[in-house]
Amino acid sequence: MIYTVTLNPAIDRLIQTSGMLTKKKTNRVKTAEYDLGGKGFHVSHVLSKFGIENIALGFIGSENQLQMEKILRAKQVTHQLIVEKNASTRECIVLIDEESQGSTMVTGSGFRISRTNHEKLIFQLQKLLKKDDMLVLAGSLPPDYTLKQLKEIIDVGKRAGSFIACDLSGDALKLSVKMEVDFIKPNQFELEELLTPAMESMKDRLLVLNESVPYIAASFGEEGSYVVHAGEIYRVFPPKVKEVNDTGAGDVFVGSFLAQLALRANLETAIAYATACSASKVTKRNCTDFDLIQAEQMLPMIKIKKLEVNPDAIS
Ligand code: ATP
Ligand code: MG
Repeated sequence: MIYTVTLNPAIDRLIQTSGMLTKKKTNRVKTAEYDLGGKGFHVSHVLSKFGIENIALGFIGSENQLQMEKILRAKQVTHQLIVEKNASTRECIVLIDEESQGSTMVTGSGFRISRTNHEKLIFQLQKLLKKDDMLVLAGSLPPDYTLKQLKEIIDVGKRAGSFIACDLSGDALKLSVKMEVDFIKPNQFELEELLTPAMESMKDRLLVLNESVPYIAASFGEEGSYVVHAGEIYRVFPPKVKEVNDTGAGDVFVGSFLAQLALRANLETAIAYATACSASKVTKRNCTDFDLIQAEQMLPMIKIKKLEVNPDAIS
């Protein structure tokens, strides 16, 4: 089973304005919709689209619980969430305009998790996680949630011997590397915070990281990605697409990559699906949609180049 964990859930509110979004002007709404927010939920949605059984774990606020549950149902996310009383799941407002100048996000910080509810989650994970399972931790931490609490979650996965995939940032990402999880997907900014500055080339830096983390996907938006596994580096070039909204591309990349690993596909297939599905996502208006048929048509347009690795370059 694959379990995703969303510690800081969100409801995305997607607002598209007529014409170009401009400061100091009344911008008119062209379309508005509610969508699934929270990176773990996004990954669950992608896995479900690939027909892979999964359960979304984590927290949900009691105040707008019904609204969140309705969105989860619509997006085929099976869940066993812990309810935080007197709390409201935050909204993430995503602004896009007709001219497709890129999306702007304005996001709430989320609700605090009570100690009892954190302990409930740990207990739930201890009961559920088995060796052949996958644990996916994605997204930001709730206010005042500590790295020690995050470590407790990762520890449960480690003890069970599950495959642990993390899409985290900042100190949480650093912790996941220190704890030698199985998969990380830093984007350009997250990678900069992570790499040893003393080393010269990107290749060497990634290889050092690969000594701790078996699967690394370092993503660079429309420039594609570097995927590193077993001391091999793949430079991946995505197809050219018309960008409408790139928010959530990373989550579709992670979900599709893990879906392929769960299906026991080979690494190049996993890379190709992750790249094609995230490119398809970029052409859609909301933060979760992608089209598997469109993605499969784009598979031949993806270039995956295995880089030469000099074994003497690193220790
Ligand atoms: P998010 O946090 O919004 O989910 P991210 O910053 O984690 O995104 P990105 O690096 O922006 O992730 O994108 C992940 C992958 O999606 C890229 O490696 C690339 O394969 C694909 N992608 C993103 N933007 C584009 C684009 N404009 N055209 C084609 N592919 C794209
Ligand atoms: Mg990301």
